[in-house]
Amino acid sequence: MKYISTRGNAPDLTFEEAMLTGLARDGGLYVPETVPTMTPDQIAALAGLSYEEAAFHVMRPFVGDAFTDDEFRGIIARAYAGFRHEARAPLVQLAPNHFLLELFHGPTLAFKDFAMQLIGQLFQFSLARRDERVTIVGATSGDTGSAAIEAFRGLDNVDVFILFPDGRVSDIQRKQMTTPDDANVHALALDGDFDDCQAALKDMFNDFDFRDGVRLAGVNSINWARVLAQVVYYFTSAVSLGAPYRKVSFTVPTGNFGDIFAGYIAKKMGLPIDQLVIATNQNDILHRTMETGAYTKEGVTPSISPSMDIQVSSNFERALFDAYGRDGAAVAQLMDELKQGSFAISQGAMEGLRETFASGRASEGETMATITRGYTAAGQVYCPHTAVGVKVAEEHLGATPMVTLSTAHPAKFPDAVEKAMGQRPGLPPHMADMMDKPERVTRVPNDLGALQTLIKDRIANR
Ligand SMILES: *Cc1c(COP(=O)(O)O)cnc(C)c1O
Repeated sequence: MKYISTRGNAPDLTFEEAMLTGLARDGGLYVPETVPTMTPDQIAALAGLSYEEAAFHVMRPFVGDAFTDDEFRGIIARAYAGFRHEARAPLVQLAPNHFLLELFHGPTLAFKDFAMQLIGQLFQFSLARRDERVTIVGATSGDTGSAAIEAFRGLDNVDVFILFPDGRVSDIQRKQMTTPDDANVHALALDGDFDDCQAALKDMFNDFDFRDGVRLAGVNSINWARVLAQVVYYFTSAVSLGAPYRKVSFTVPTGNFGDIFAGYIAKKMGLPIDQLVIATNQNDILHRTMETGAYTKEGVTPSISPSMDIQVSSNFERALFDAYGRDGAAVAQLMDELKQGSFAISQGAMEGLRETFASGRASEGETMATITRGYTAAGQVYCPHTAVGVKVAEEHLGATPMVTLSTAHPAKFPDAVEKAMGQRPGLPPHMADMMDKPERVTRVPNDLGALQTLIKDRIANR
Protein backbone atom coordinates (compact mmCIF):
# COMPACT_ATOMS: atom_id res chain seq x y z
CA MET A 1 0.00 0.00 0.00
CA LYS A 2 1.47 3.31 -1.16
CA TYR A 3 0.61 6.81 0.05
CA ILE A 4 0.65 9.83 -2.26
CA SER A 5 0.48 13.56 -1.60
CA THR A 6 -2.61 15.62 -2.44
CA ARG A 7 -0.32 18.15 -4.14
CA GLY A 8 1.34 15.60 -6.37
CA ASN A 9 4.90 16.70 -5.71
CA ALA A 10 6.29 14.67 -2.81
CA PRO A 11 7.76 11.17 -2.64
CA ASP A 12 5.35 8.24 -2.31
CA LEU A 13 5.60 6.66 1.13
CA THR A 14 4.69 3.46 2.93
CA PHE A 15 2.10 3.51 5.73
CA GLU A 16 4.81 3.67 8.38
CA GLU A 17 6.68 6.50 6.64
CA ALA A 18 3.50 8.50 6.05
CA MET A 19 2.58 8.07 9.71
CA LEU A 20 5.98 9.21 10.98
CA THR A 21 6.05 12.13 8.52
CA GLY A 22 2.63 13.75 8.86
CA LEU A 23 2.60 16.61 6.37
CA ALA A 24 4.08 15.89 2.92
CA ARG A 25 7.13 17.89 1.84
CA ASP A 26 5.15 19.68 -0.88
CA GLY A 27 2.75 20.93 1.80
CA GLY A 28 0.15 18.32 0.84
CA LEU A 29 -1.53 15.57 2.84
CA TYR A 30 -0.93 11.88 2.35
CA VAL A 31 -3.75 9.67 1.07
CA PRO A 32 -3.73 6.02 0.06
CA GLU A 33 -3.07 5.55 -3.65
CA THR A 34 -6.12 3.29 -3.79
CA VAL A 35 -8.74 2.71 -1.11
CA PRO A 36 -9.19 -0.99 -0.36
CA THR A 37 -12.78 -2.20 -0.36
CA MET A 38 -14.68 -4.64 1.82
CA THR A 39 -17.36 -6.90 0.39
CA PRO A 40 -20.82 -6.98 1.97
CA ASP A 41 -19.95 -10.39 3.43
CA GLN A 42 -16.77 -9.03 5.00
CA ILE A 43 -18.73 -6.12 6.45
CA ALA A 44 -21.45 -8.42 7.77
CA ALA A 45 -18.76 -10.53 9.45
CA LEU A 46 -17.84 -7.59 11.69
CA ALA A 47 -21.11 -7.99 13.58
CA GLY A 48 -20.58 -9.11 17.14
CA LEU A 49 -16.79 -8.71 17.12
CA SER A 50 -15.01 -6.75 19.83
CA TYR A 51 -14.14 -3.18 18.85
CA GLU A 52 -10.48 -4.19 18.71
CA GLU A 53 -11.07 -7.13 16.40
CA ALA A 54 -13.28 -5.06 14.09
CA ALA A 55 -10.55 -2.40 14.07
CA PHE A 56 -8.02 -5.00 13.01
CA HIS A 57 -10.12 -6.10 10.03
CA VAL A 58 -11.00 -2.58 8.90
CA MET A 59 -7.48 -1.13 9.18
CA ARG A 60 -5.36 -4.13 8.18
CA PRO A 61 -5.47 -3.54 4.39
CA PHE A 62 -4.16 0.03 4.85
CA VAL A 63 -1.00 -0.79 6.77
CA GLY A 64 0.56 -3.08 4.17
CA ASP A 65 3.40 -5.16 5.58
CA ALA A 66 4.39 -2.66 8.27
CA PHE A 67 3.43 -5.11 11.03
CA THR A 68 2.67 -8.79 11.35
CA ASP A 69 -0.95 -9.61 12.22
CA ASP A 70 0.07 -10.39 15.80
CA GLU A 71 2.01 -7.16 16.14
CA PHE A 72 -0.87 -5.12 14.76
CA ARG A 73 -3.39 -6.85 17.05
CA GLY A 74 -1.11 -6.09 20.00
CA ILE A 75 -0.85 -2.42 19.05
CA ILE A 76 -4.64 -2.12 18.79
CA ALA A 77 -5.19 -3.93 22.08
CA ARG A 78 -2.83 -1.58 23.95
CA ALA A 79 -4.37 1.48 22.28
CA TYR A 80 -7.90 0.83 23.55
CA ALA A 81 -7.11 -0.84 26.88
CA GLY A 82 -7.48 2.51 28.71
CA PHE A 83 -11.03 3.14 27.49
CA ARG A 84 -13.73 3.01 30.12
CA HIS A 85 -16.49 1.31 28.17
CA GLU A 86 -16.45 -2.31 27.04
CA ALA A 87 -17.93 -1.37 23.68
CA ARG A 88 -15.39 1.48 23.27
CA ALA A 89 -17.86 3.37 21.04
CA PRO A 90 -21.38 2.59 22.33
CA LEU A 91 -24.59 3.65 20.54
CA VAL A 92 -27.45 5.31 22.41
CA GLN A 93 -30.89 5.88 20.93
CA LEU A 94 -32.28 9.44 20.99
CA ALA A 95 -35.42 9.18 18.89
CA PRO A 96 -37.06 6.61 16.59
CA ASN A 97 -34.47 6.96 13.86
CA HIS A 98 -31.75 8.94 15.57
CA PHE A 99 -28.78 7.52 17.44
CA LEU A 100 -25.82 8.96 19.29
CA LEU A 101 -22.39 7.37 18.93
CA GLU A 102 -20.56 8.04 22.19
CA LEU A 103 -16.91 8.62 21.38
CA PHE A 104 -15.85 10.05 24.72
CA HIS A 105 -14.95 7.02 26.83
CA GLY A 106 -11.19 7.35 26.26
CA PRO A 107 -8.63 8.83 28.69
CA THR A 108 -9.24 12.51 27.76
CA LEU A 109 -13.00 12.21 27.25
CA ALA A 110 -13.07 13.17 23.55
CA PHE A 111 -13.15 11.25 20.29
CA LYS A 112 -9.57 12.22 19.50
CA ASP A 113 -8.43 9.48 21.89
CA PHE A 114 -9.51 6.89 19.31
CA ALA A 115 -6.85 8.11 16.89
CA MET A 116 -4.27 9.39 19.30
CA GLN A 117 -4.05 6.33 21.54
CA LEU A 118 -3.53 4.21 18.44
CA ILE A 119 -0.91 6.55 17.02
CA GLY A 120 0.98 6.55 20.34
CA GLN A 121 1.24 2.76 20.23
CA LEU A 122 2.13 2.77 16.52
CA PHE A 123 4.92 5.32 17.10
CA GLN A 124 6.23 3.47 20.11
CA PHE A 125 6.44 0.25 18.15
CA SER A 126 7.98 1.75 15.01
CA LEU A 127 10.50 4.04 16.71
CA ALA A 128 11.78 1.33 19.02
CA ARG A 129 12.21 -0.99 16.05
CA ARG A 130 14.07 1.71 14.06
CA ASP A 131 16.01 2.94 17.11
CA GLU A 132 14.92 6.51 16.33
CA ARG A 133 13.63 9.51 18.27
CA VAL A 134 11.16 12.12 17.09
CA THR A 135 9.85 15.47 18.23
CA ILE A 136 6.12 15.77 18.02
CA VAL A 137 4.71 19.25 17.68
CA GLY A 138 0.96 19.60 17.62
CA ALA A 139 -1.41 22.53 17.36
CA THR A 140 -4.69 22.23 19.18
CA SER A 141 -7.95 24.05 19.61
CA GLY A 142 -8.34 22.03 22.78
CA ASP A 143 -8.87 18.30 22.49
CA THR A 144 -6.06 17.19 20.21
CA GLY A 145 -3.43 18.48 22.59
CA SER A 146 -4.54 16.62 25.65
CA ALA A 147 -5.16 13.50 23.58
CA ALA A 148 -1.62 13.69 22.17
CA ILE A 149 -0.12 14.26 25.60
CA GLU A 150 -1.99 11.28 27.06
CA ALA A 151 -0.87 9.13 24.14
CA PHE A 152 2.84 10.06 24.26
CA ARG A 153 3.59 10.97 27.87
CA GLY A 154 6.47 9.05 29.33
CA LEU A 155 7.54 7.44 26.04
CA ASP A 156 11.33 7.23 25.67
CA ASN A 157 11.66 8.02 21.99
CA VAL A 158 9.37 11.05 21.79
CA ASP A 159 9.25 14.66 22.96
CA VAL A 160 5.82 16.18 22.64
CA PHE A 161 5.20 19.94 22.30
CA ILE A 162 1.62 21.16 22.17
CA LEU A 163 0.71 24.67 21.03
CA PHE A 164 -2.65 25.92 22.16
CA PRO A 165 -4.25 29.38 21.87
CA ASP A 166 -3.74 31.13 25.20
CA GLY A 167 -7.05 31.76 26.96
CA ARG A 168 -9.15 30.08 24.27
CA VAL A 169 -9.46 26.56 25.61
CA SER A 170 -11.66 25.48 28.49
CA ASP A 171 -10.17 25.15 32.00
CA ILE A 172 -10.44 21.40 31.83
CA GLN A 173 -8.85 21.22 28.40
CA ARG A 174 -5.99 23.37 29.67
CA LYS A 175 -5.56 21.34 32.86
CA GLN A 176 -5.45 18.15 30.85
CA MET A 177 -2.49 19.57 28.93
CA THR A 178 -0.66 21.30 31.76
CA THR A 179 -0.96 18.85 34.66
CA PRO A 180 0.90 15.79 33.28
CA ASP A 181 4.37 16.04 34.84
CA ASP A 182 6.32 13.78 32.49
CA ALA A 183 9.65 15.28 31.38
CA ASN A 184 8.88 14.72 27.69
CA VAL A 185 5.64 16.77 27.77
CA HIS A 186 5.75 20.50 26.93
CA ALA A 187 2.54 22.56 26.94
CA LEU A 188 2.95 25.91 25.13
CA ALA A 189 0.31 28.66 25.41
CA LEU A 190 0.63 30.76 22.25
CA ASP A 191 -0.35 34.40 22.12
CA GLY A 192 -2.88 34.03 19.27
CA ASP A 193 -5.82 31.92 18.05
CA PHE A 194 -5.96 28.34 16.81
CA ASP A 195 -5.19 29.31 13.23
CA ASP A 196 -2.01 31.03 14.45
CA CYS A 197 -1.04 27.79 16.19
CA GLN A 198 -1.77 25.81 13.08
CA ALA A 199 0.15 28.28 10.89
CA ALA A 200 3.20 28.09 13.20
CA LEU A 201 3.08 24.33 12.96
CA LYS A 202 2.89 24.40 9.15
CA ASP A 203 5.81 26.83 9.01
CA MET A 204 7.91 24.52 11.16
CA PHE A 205 7.18 21.64 8.81
CA ASN A 206 8.06 23.74 5.80
CA ASP A 207 11.40 24.75 7.33
CA PHE A 208 13.28 21.62 6.27
CA ASP A 209 16.44 22.42 8.25
CA PHE A 210 14.47 22.65 11.44
CA ARG A 211 12.22 19.77 10.49
CA ASP A 212 15.12 17.41 9.86
CA GLY A 213 17.23 18.82 12.72
CA VAL A 214 14.70 17.97 15.43
CA ARG A 215 13.16 15.02 13.52
CA LEU A 216 9.77 16.65 13.53
CA ALA A 217 6.71 14.41 13.36
CA GLY A 218 3.12 15.57 13.18
CA VAL A 219 0.13 14.05 14.87
CA ASN A 220 -2.44 16.67 13.95
CA SER A 221 -5.52 15.45 12.18
CA ILE A 222 -3.63 15.70 8.90
CA ASN A 223 -1.75 12.54 9.91
CA TRP A 224 -3.17 9.72 7.82
CA ALA A 225 -2.94 7.20 10.66
CA ARG A 226 -5.39 9.32 12.64
CA VAL A 227 -7.93 9.39 9.87
CA LEU A 228 -7.59 5.64 9.53
CA ALA A 229 -8.25 4.99 13.23
CA GLN A 230 -11.50 6.95 12.95
CA VAL A 231 -12.80 4.88 10.05
CA VAL A 232 -13.41 1.99 12.42
CA TYR A 233 -16.32 3.36 14.43
CA TYR A 234 -18.30 4.16 11.29
CA PHE A 235 -18.18 0.45 10.56
CA THR A 236 -18.95 -0.80 14.06
CA SER A 237 -21.92 1.54 14.50
CA ALA A 238 -23.35 0.99 11.02
CA VAL A 239 -23.11 -2.78 11.43
CA SER A 240 -24.95 -2.53 14.76
CA LEU A 241 -27.76 -0.76 12.90
CA GLY A 242 -28.05 -3.30 10.12
CA ALA A 243 -25.30 -2.56 7.59
CA PRO A 244 -24.46 -3.85 5.05
CA TYR A 245 -28.13 -4.78 4.54
CA ARG A 246 -29.40 -1.35 5.54
CA LYS A 247 -28.05 2.10 4.78
CA VAL A 248 -27.01 4.39 7.61
CA SER A 249 -26.43 8.18 7.70
CA PHE A 250 -24.00 10.13 9.87
CA THR A 251 -23.86 13.68 11.14
CA VAL A 252 -20.44 14.81 12.30
CA PRO A 253 -19.60 17.91 14.37
CA THR A 254 -16.84 19.23 12.15
CA GLY A 255 -13.82 21.49 12.42
CA ASN A 256 -10.72 20.28 10.62
CA PHE A 257 -12.71 17.70 8.63
CA GLY A 258 -10.67 14.74 9.90
CA ASP A 259 -13.52 12.87 11.54
CA ILE A 260 -16.00 13.22 8.69
CA PHE A 261 -13.30 12.44 6.15
CA ALA A 262 -12.91 9.09 7.91
CA GLY A 263 -16.62 8.54 7.21
CA TYR A 264 -16.00 9.30 3.56
CA ILE A 265 -13.24 6.67 3.51
CA ALA A 266 -15.61 4.16 5.13
CA LYS A 267 -18.09 4.86 2.35
CA LYS A 268 -15.42 4.42 -0.32
CA MET A 269 -14.50 1.10 1.29
CA GLY A 270 -18.03 -0.10 0.67
CA LEU A 271 -19.95 0.78 3.82
CA PRO A 272 -23.47 1.75 2.67
CA ILE A 273 -23.56 5.31 3.98
CA ASP A 274 -26.46 7.40 2.74
CA GLN A 275 -25.92 10.95 4.01
CA LEU A 276 -22.70 12.30 5.48
CA VAL A 277 -23.68 15.58 7.10
CA ILE A 278 -21.11 18.23 8.01
CA ALA A 279 -22.27 20.09 11.14
CA THR A 280 -20.52 23.39 11.85
CA ASN A 281 -20.88 26.02 14.52
CA GLN A 282 -20.85 29.73 13.67
CA ASN A 283 -17.36 29.27 12.21
CA ASP A 284 -19.01 27.80 9.17
CA ILE A 285 -16.50 27.92 6.31
CA LEU A 286 -17.45 24.40 5.27
CA HIS A 287 -21.19 25.02 5.32
CA ARG A 288 -20.72 28.21 3.32
CA THR A 289 -18.52 26.34 0.85
CA MET A 290 -21.16 23.66 0.34
CA GLU A 291 -23.79 26.34 -0.24
CA THR A 292 -21.82 28.69 -2.48
CA GLY A 293 -18.90 26.77 -4.01
CA ALA A 294 -16.50 29.41 -2.69
CA TYR A 295 -14.04 28.51 0.06
CA THR A 296 -13.46 31.82 1.80
CA LYS A 297 -11.57 32.49 5.02
CA GLU A 298 -13.19 34.70 7.61
CA GLY A 299 -11.96 35.51 11.09
CA VAL A 300 -12.61 33.03 13.89
CA THR A 301 -15.34 33.92 16.35
CA PRO A 302 -14.82 32.06 19.63
CA SER A 303 -17.79 29.81 20.38
CA ILE A 304 -19.02 27.47 23.10
CA SER A 305 -17.82 24.57 20.91
CA PRO A 306 -14.16 25.66 20.76
CA SER A 307 -12.78 22.48 19.21
CA MET A 308 -14.63 23.45 16.03
CA ASP A 309 -13.48 27.08 15.99
CA ILE A 310 -11.46 27.05 12.79
CA GLN A 311 -10.88 29.41 9.93
CA VAL A 312 -9.63 26.82 7.45
CA SER A 313 -10.27 23.12 7.55
CA SER A 314 -7.07 21.21 6.79
CA ASN A 315 -8.45 17.83 5.87
CA PHE A 316 -10.86 19.29 3.36
CA GLU A 317 -7.88 19.25 1.02
CA ARG A 318 -8.18 15.47 0.90
CA ALA A 319 -11.80 15.69 -0.25
CA LEU A 320 -10.84 18.32 -2.84
CA PHE A 321 -8.14 16.02 -4.17
CA ASP A 322 -10.75 13.38 -5.00
CA ALA A 323 -13.30 15.94 -6.22
CA TYR A 324 -10.68 17.19 -8.68
CA GLY A 325 -10.03 13.70 -10.02
CA ARG A 326 -6.84 13.35 -7.94
CA ASP A 327 -5.16 16.20 -9.80
CA GLY A 328 -2.42 17.28 -7.38
CA ALA A 329 -1.43 20.31 -9.45
CA ALA A 330 -5.02 21.62 -9.35
CA VAL A 331 -5.12 21.21 -5.55
CA ALA A 332 -1.74 22.93 -5.17
CA GLN A 333 -3.08 25.85 -7.19
CA LEU A 334 -6.22 26.16 -5.02
CA MET A 335 -4.10 26.15 -1.87
CA ASP A 336 -1.93 28.84 -3.39
CA GLU A 337 -5.01 30.98 -4.10
CA LEU A 338 -6.13 30.46 -0.51
CA LYS A 339 -3.15 32.50 0.66
CA GLN A 340 -5.11 35.46 -0.75
CA GLY A 341 -8.08 34.36 1.37
CA SER A 342 -10.33 32.46 -0.99
CA PHE A 343 -10.73 30.05 -3.91
CA ALA A 344 -13.64 29.01 -6.08
CA ILE A 345 -14.35 25.30 -6.53
CA SER A 346 -15.12 24.16 -10.08
CA GLN A 347 -18.68 23.15 -10.85
CA GLY A 348 -17.70 19.55 -11.54
CA ALA A 349 -15.86 19.27 -8.24
CA MET A 350 -18.76 20.87 -6.36
CA GLU A 351 -21.16 18.32 -7.84
CA GLY A 352 -18.94 15.53 -6.58
CA LEU A 353 -18.73 17.05 -3.11
CA ARG A 354 -22.50 17.61 -2.90
CA GLU A 355 -23.13 14.02 -3.93
CA THR A 356 -21.22 12.86 -0.87
CA PHE A 357 -21.70 15.59 1.73
CA ALA A 358 -24.64 17.56 3.07
CA SER A 359 -24.12 20.34 5.58
CA GLY A 360 -25.74 22.48 8.24
CA ARG A 361 -24.85 25.06 10.84
CA ALA A 362 -25.90 25.74 14.42
CA SER A 363 -25.76 29.17 15.98
CA GLU A 364 -24.76 29.61 19.60
CA GLY A 365 -28.40 30.02 20.60
CA GLU A 366 -29.46 26.90 18.72
CA THR A 367 -26.65 24.95 20.33
CA MET A 368 -27.70 26.05 23.83
CA ALA A 369 -31.36 25.29 23.06
CA THR A 370 -30.40 21.81 21.87
CA ILE A 371 -28.55 21.08 25.12
CA THR A 372 -31.56 22.27 27.12
CA ARG A 373 -34.00 20.24 25.06
CA GLY A 374 -31.84 17.10 25.13
CA TYR A 375 -31.85 17.21 28.90
CA THR A 376 -35.53 18.00 29.47
CA ALA A 377 -36.84 15.68 26.72
CA ALA A 378 -34.55 12.67 26.96
CA GLY A 379 -32.33 13.09 30.01
CA GLN A 380 -29.34 13.32 27.69
CA VAL A 381 -26.44 15.62 28.48
CA TYR A 382 -24.71 16.81 25.31
CA CYS A 383 -21.41 18.63 25.12
CA PRO A 384 -21.74 21.74 22.94
CA HIS A 385 -20.02 20.08 19.94
CA THR A 386 -22.39 17.16 20.13
CA ALA A 387 -25.32 19.58 20.42
CA VAL A 388 -24.25 21.24 17.16
CA GLY A 389 -24.35 17.78 15.59
CA VAL A 390 -27.73 16.85 17.07
CA LYS A 391 -29.31 20.11 15.88
CA VAL A 392 -28.02 19.70 12.31
CA ALA A 393 -28.86 15.98 12.28
CA GLU A 394 -32.47 16.75 13.18
CA GLU A 395 -32.69 18.77 9.98
CA HIS A 396 -31.60 15.74 7.99
CA LEU A 397 -33.66 12.93 9.55
CA GLY A 398 -35.45 10.59 7.15
CA ALA A 399 -36.08 6.92 6.52
CA THR A 400 -32.43 5.98 7.03
CA PRO A 401 -31.16 5.68 10.60
CA MET A 402 -29.10 8.74 11.50
CA VAL A 403 -26.06 8.45 13.76
CA THR A 404 -24.78 11.66 15.32
CA LEU A 405 -21.22 11.49 16.55
CA SER A 406 -20.94 12.57 20.18
CA THR A 407 -17.43 13.92 20.15
CA ALA A 408 -16.79 14.88 23.78
CA HIS A 409 -17.99 14.30 27.32
CA PRO A 410 -20.13 17.22 28.59
CA ALA A 411 -17.91 17.66 31.65
CA LYS A 412 -15.15 19.01 29.40
CA PHE A 413 -17.32 22.08 28.74
CA PRO A 414 -19.08 22.55 32.07
CA ASP A 415 -19.81 26.28 31.82
CA ALA A 416 -21.86 26.16 28.63
CA VAL A 417 -23.63 22.98 29.70
CA GLU A 418 -24.48 24.38 33.13
CA LYS A 419 -25.83 27.55 31.56
CA ALA A 420 -28.05 25.56 29.21
CA MET A 421 -29.50 23.02 31.62
CA GLY A 422 -29.06 24.52 35.06
CA GLN A 423 -26.80 21.76 36.38
CA ARG A 424 -23.07 21.35 36.26
CA PRO A 425 -21.98 18.08 34.60
CA GLY A 426 -19.52 16.21 36.81
CA LEU A 427 -16.16 14.82 35.77
CA PRO A 428 -15.92 11.03 35.86
CA PRO A 429 -14.53 9.91 39.24
CA HIS A 430 -11.07 8.97 37.92
CA MET A 431 -10.51 12.60 36.85
CA ALA A 432 -12.03 14.39 39.79
CA ASP A 433 -8.69 15.46 41.31
CA MET A 434 -7.33 17.01 38.11
CA MET A 435 -8.56 20.52 38.84
CA ASP A 436 -6.39 20.70 41.97
CA LYS A 437 -3.12 19.57 40.39
CA PRO A 438 -0.34 22.11 39.70
CA GLU A 439 0.07 23.31 36.10
CA ARG A 440 3.22 23.39 33.98
CA VAL A 441 2.92 25.68 30.96
CA THR A 442 5.15 28.07 28.99
CA ARG A 443 3.63 31.18 27.42
CA VAL A 444 5.09 31.83 23.97
CA PRO A 445 4.80 34.73 21.49
CA ASN A 446 3.37 34.15 18.02
CA ASP A 447 6.88 34.14 16.57
CA LEU A 448 8.32 31.25 14.61
CA GLY A 449 11.99 31.88 15.44
CA ALA A 450 11.33 32.09 19.16
CA LEU A 451 9.32 28.87 19.07
CA GLN A 452 11.96 26.99 17.18
CA THR A 453 14.66 28.12 19.60
CA LEU A 454 12.59 27.03 22.56
CA ILE A 455 11.96 23.60 21.09
CA LYS A 456 15.64 23.05 20.24
CA ASP A 457 16.71 24.12 23.75
CA ARG A 458 14.21 21.88 25.47
CA ILE A 459 15.29 18.84 23.47
CA ALA A 460 18.98 19.58 24.04
CA ASN A 461 18.39 19.85 27.79
CA ARG A 462 16.38 16.69 28.24
C1 LIG B 1 -11.69 17.97 17.18
C2 LIG B 1 -13.10 18.00 17.61
C3 LIG B 1 -14.14 18.17 16.67
C4 LIG B 1 -13.87 18.38 15.20
O1 LIG B 1 -13.29 17.25 14.57
P1 LIG B 1 -12.53 17.42 13.19
O2 LIG B 1 -11.95 16.08 12.91
O3 LIG B 1 -11.47 18.47 13.42
O4 LIG B 1 -13.52 17.86 12.19
C5 LIG B 1 -15.43 18.12 17.14
N1 LIG B 1 -15.72 17.95 18.45
C6 LIG B 1 -14.75 17.80 19.37
C7 LIG B 1 -15.14 17.64 20.80
C8 LIG B 1 -13.42 17.81 18.99
O5 LIG B 1 -12.46 17.66 19.91
